[in-house]
Amino acid sequence: MKYLSTRGGITPIPFSEAVMMGLATDGGLLLPEKIEPVADKTIVAWQGLSYQELAFEVMSRFIDDIPAPDLRDLINRSYATFSHPEITPLVAVDGMRIMELFHGPTLAFKDVALQFLGNVFEYLLKKSGEKMNILGATSGDTGSAAIYGVRGKENIRIFILHPHKRVSPVQELQMTTVVDDNVFNIAVQGTFDDGQAIVKEIFNDIPFKEKYHLGAVNSINWARILAQVVYYIQATLRLGQEGGGMVDFSVPTGNFGDIFAGYVARLMMPGRIRRLILATNENDLLTRFVNHGDYSVGQVRQTSSPSMDIQVASNFERYLYYLHGGDANRTRESMAQFASSGLMAFDASQRQRIREDFCSRSVTEEETLAEIARCAKDRYILDPHTAVGVRAARDFQEEGIAIVCLATAHPAKFGAAVERATGSQAELPEALVDLATRPSRCSVLPADSRVIREYIENNGV
Ligand SMILES: *Cc1c(COP(=O)(O)O)cnc(C)c1O
Repeated sequence: MKYLSTRGGITPIPFSEAVMMGLATDGGLLLPEKIEPVADKTIVAWQGLSYQELAFEVMSRFIDDIPAPDLRDLINRSYATFSHPEITPLVAVDGMRIMELFHGPTLAFKDVALQFLGNVFEYLLKKSGEKMNILGATSGDTGSAAIYGVRGKENIRIFILHPHKRVSPVQELQMTTVVDDNVFNIAVQGTFDDGQAIVKEIFNDIPFKEKYHLGAVNSINWARILAQVVYYIQATLRLGQEGGGMVDFSVPTGNFGDIFAGYVARLMMPGRIRRLILATNENDLLTRFVNHGDYSVGQVRQTSSPSMDIQVASNFERYLYYLHGGDANRTRESMAQFASSGLMAFDASQRQRIREDFCSRSVTEEETLAEIARCAKDRYILDPHTAVGVRAARDFQEEGIAIVCLATAHPAKFGAAVERATGSQAELPEALVDLATRPSRCSVLPADSRVIREYIENNGV
């Protein structure tokens, strides 16, 4: 399987190069040349496989340059860090299914992809004899999942910038209590945007980027999407003939990575996965896109589901490529139009196609908290991101069709919102109980790109 760019500017490359490239060199996103439906008899053969075995079967359809025993080993090690034997279990709540994606080390769904990506990076670097310094800015969640993904890995160092005293205490501790030698937490004296701007500036300095082998772990890496495809297929197989064999998924969406993985799963199992429900918080750009074909940027609003406080979804271009019928020129033109005007326009047949692929709803803050309270009566505590997905799902629920809501974070990570909704704190899972008493390490630095550069020069691999 070879990978191409949504903008058509690269010659097709194998999986391992696509993973190391991250963003395509022409500014586009990487996609497999083709995504084929899985034959019925293969689907039957997949029933009853463990999560790890299924992950191997699904991923090896897209990876042909890592030997099978090595790929199995990478998968097994990636999911050995999860605390649930089914990795992403399904729970019945109020006539729906909740798929719990938060049993990884940082209690958010990003672990499913980043545990795998960290192992793949280490494996590929070892093979090529290269080294990598990962650099990223975080507003909280991604940083800790990335740090846990690469802690202790050979030939990799990771530098994560977070805004000093502006992330939640749990989020800060989840990052700073990882004291492995290859992990460098930097608390920037500024906002998240300051950190993000510094990272962008450093990545744009090509000689520096090459000299220090800078790498990124952001959500546009194809390996992350691929790892997420697995749980959609696992849930669909598990539900079997329930709901006439058809499943709808509700996905709390920010950067469009998770729901794009659902789209890939749907291309693979078109007769089994019916609808993808794109749930947004008050940052409703993608809901306007699905319901009205209107793709235009607004102001970012802060909500109780901060990982979805996003206006421009970085993975959207992958879907756009399919919407343009796999035409890279049209995709590139649409992106250029958007970059210059902040708008993208779609014709009637595209708008119809969009509505066949997705349905969508934007959920207010008030509705989010009400949904947490409603499920709490059923003794199930939702985190605010998951609550957005569950609330949206209720609007689209149909008799006789199974519906799966993705639970993207453990409620204890967002204790304040849960307390506001229910009057009591979510119970801390074991992994967080002694967090505050663990040793921690973090450098507090000014929001100055020269200082951050120097820090990387002194501590990079
Ligand atoms: C990242 C994240 C999301 C959004 O996922 P995307 O792939 O960016 O759409 C939703 N919920 C939580 C808890 C997250 O961390």
